[in-house]
Amino acid sequence: MAVTVFSQLDKSLHSHLATLTDLAERGDDQTALVLARVELPRVVAVVKALLDEHQPDEHGRCATCKRGWFSRRMPAPCRAYLSAQLILTVVGQETSHGKHLRSVG
Ligand SMILES: [Zn+2]
Repeated sequence: MAVTVFSQLDKSLHSHLATLTDLAERGDDQTALVLARVELPRVVAVVKALLDEHQPDEHGRCATCKRGWFSRRMPAPCRAYLSAQLILTVVGQETSHGKHLRSVG
């Protein structure tokens, strides 16, 4: 695959996110504080900006997601909202549960 400006941006973004995750998991308390105060609001802003592209109606159908794989006859539940909900609730609970177990044991 050719190296484009966009692929460089994509790589750089993923690298930044991986660094944030790594620091959150392994960093000391001071690092965690900076992450929470400085980086977390930025990540929240990014999630909000992405979700702004998706405006599901009361049935969860989303015009942005409708343009994708779902046919016009089928309702298209907004995948962005579903993913955000799933990751922030289900995955988040598993992670904090795991951390709790590690700190106890
Ligand atoms: Zn959507």
